[in-house]
Amino acid sequence: MVNQSAQLEYLIARMVSSGPRVRHKYAFWFPLPYSVLKVMYGDILKRLDRGECPVCGKTFRSRHVVSAHLFKYHKEFVASVIESTIEKYLLIMLNLRHVGNSIVLKVNDKEIKFKTRRQLAEYIQRNPEVLEMLGNGGS
Ligand SMILES: [Zn+2]
Repeated sequence: MVNQSAQLEYLIARMVSSGPRVRHKYAFWFPLPYSVLKVMYGDILKRLDRGECPVCGKTFRSRHVVSAHLFKYHKEFVASVIESTIEKYLLIMLNLRHVGNSIVLKVNDKEIKFKTRRQLAEYIQRNPEVLEMLGNGGS
């Protein structure tokens, strides 16, 4: 569990620090953490992509430079983005079950079936409100 969290932390930090091109690759390989980050912090990613610091509003000449600035001067902000993304991701995992060849997400009293995690990730991007409807450990 600790290991998984450390991996997730690294992964999400990379997604925040990378530009759209690299992020696209992460999104392909890790669709679920990416969807959670995009739903929760999509506006922040957009500002970073424009070279704008989402915390102090300064603008920089490139995505690369604004990332370096963010990770150097706004460590706490970055940590909170990473932490809440992981929390939400783990909450999804708590409400996820494998049933035969499908995965089933429990949302309130409903169960939503998916064939793959990628499908689930796409669903979350289309229905971001689902993230607010997850129980804390579903039975
Ligand atoms: Zn700043």
